[in-house]
Order: sequence, then structure tokens, then C-alpha cells
Amino acid sequence: MDTRAVRYFRWLLFWQQQGRCCYCGEHVVLTYRPYDAARPYAATLEHLQRRSDGGTGHTSNLAMACKHCNNTRGGRDWLFYASWRRNEF
Ligand SMILES: [Zn+2]
Repeated sequence: MDTRAVRYFRWLLFWQQQGRCCYCGEHVVLTYRPYDAARPYAATLEHLQRRSDGGTGHTSNLAMACKHCNNTRGGRDWLFYASWRRNEF
């Protein structure tokens, strides 16, 4: 996916998710500035199913997550990780 498509989907999902991370539910910041994009609460485009698990770049497999969750998730299943982040266990 090229940069313009990434920006578009990030923007789209930002509105669909009302500015909240798909995992922890915290508000994220939609930014294009590298300085802000490196922060833990920066919006990132997330593949729910990892590419290594056969996930595609299709829109149904995309969600917006904060950078912290995106970095911390690792190889965990996304449903499991979402529950864990929201203290549902
Ligand atoms: Zn998050």
C-alpha cells in the first residue's frame, strides 16, 4: 500500500473509531509529523491478522491502533490482545 493510501485509511478509520485505539480504547492523535508520529499515542494503521498469518491489506483487515499497542502486540491474536488491553480478563 502506498503512502497516500495509508494516510487515507488512517484518516477514515480515525473517524470510524471516533479517534480511539482499536485495542485500548484510548484517544489517539492523527498526525503526519514525524516528531508526533513517534509518540505512543500516535495513530497507526494496524493489520488485524498479521501478514505472516495470511492477513491481507484489504480494508476489512485494517484497524487504527495507537503506536504503543501496535508496538506491544507482537504476534498475539488481535482479539486476545484487545481483551487484554481493556482488562477484560
Ligand atoms: Zn492503544
